[in-house]
Amino acid sequence: MVAFGFLFALAAASSTLAHPIHHHQDRDLRIVGSSMSTVWKRQAVPGSEFSVLVDGNKAFKDSTDSALLKKLADEGQAPPFMFIGCSDSRVSEGTVFQAKPGTLFTERNIANQFQPTDPNAQAVLSYAVAELGVQHVIVMGHYGCGGIAAAIASPPASSVDAANGAVQAWIEPIREQLRTSTRTEIVELREKIKGRTDVEEPEISDPGFRALVEENVKAGVSRIAANSVIVNHYATLAGVKASERRDDHAPLGDVFIHGWVYDIENGEVRDLGISVGPPGKAIPAPPFAAVAKAAEKTTVSHEAPKAEPVQSVEARCQEQCKTKRSFLPRDH
Ligand SMILES: [Zn+2]
Repeated sequence: MVAFGFLFALAAASSTLAHPIHHHQDRDLRIVGSSMSTVWKRQAVPGSEFSVLVDGNKAFKDSTDSALLKKLADEGQAPPFMFIGCSDSRVSEGTVFQAKPGTLFTERNIANQFQPTDPNAQAVLSYAVAELGVQHVIVMGHYGCGGIAAAIASPPASSVDAANGAVQAWIEPIREQLRTSTRTEIVELREKIKGRTDVEEPEISDPGFRALVEENVKAGVSRIAANSVIVNHYATLAGVKASERRDDHAPLGDVFIHGWVYDIENGEVRDLGISVGPPGKAIPAPPFAAVAKAAEKTTVSHEAPKAEPVQSVEARCQEQCKTKRSFLPRDH
């Protein structure tokens, strides 16, 4: 067994060395989202390739309230939102929402997945809920997602290098969803590509592709709602009197989980109508237009909306920031 393991490791290492990552040389080497997320011929950037970042940072500094930056630096963060989004460069949460610093505590990965076996996502959720006291956890997918497109396309025919192997492993839960979903558009897509080994990434307008983007968000919301961090938080909330909520030591506020989808073609954010919250609590409706078709298929209860304004970053800082200067655990 040990010998086999050694041989396997040796083979993997030599394969990686023999096939370094040259994205375009091997037709069999499928890179995630190669048609959906990637433009091989980049536009030439005038001057330094970094100038776009330098200029952007200058514009950000010039337009951002320096007092807010100082306050956040001095008192710490108390973001109202935790955000899980795709790593795609077109869907940055700071860009899409023009969010000020201190607004969104974020985790991004290929195809905005939440897996309880992913220690990064688990740590972000734990810290966001138990320490930062976020009020809303948002999972946001996007149409045209390269990770979802790659999960629809046939897997590479030949062995893959280490980098693409990691991508293929990461998108496997989405392939599983494609294999098992009962949603009409996805069933039709599955039938269309059944038995084929040459499936290309779909067009952005493909109904099955769009449905799988939405179903992947729903899966993320469901996994978060079932996660021990949320289950324990809701259980604790249920046993705590209202008068004891949100003291300075333990942020025991209501936490709601939402599923949204972003349209990279027109910049719109839409609500999938799958929000969940603590048992018995009315769920504040996200003020985004609904994706009607996706909402029809929801299996998660969505209770009547209730007006509950989100506190400003500044107001929340008054309550909580003093104990949340950094990512280090607080003294208890
Ligand atoms: Zn994506």
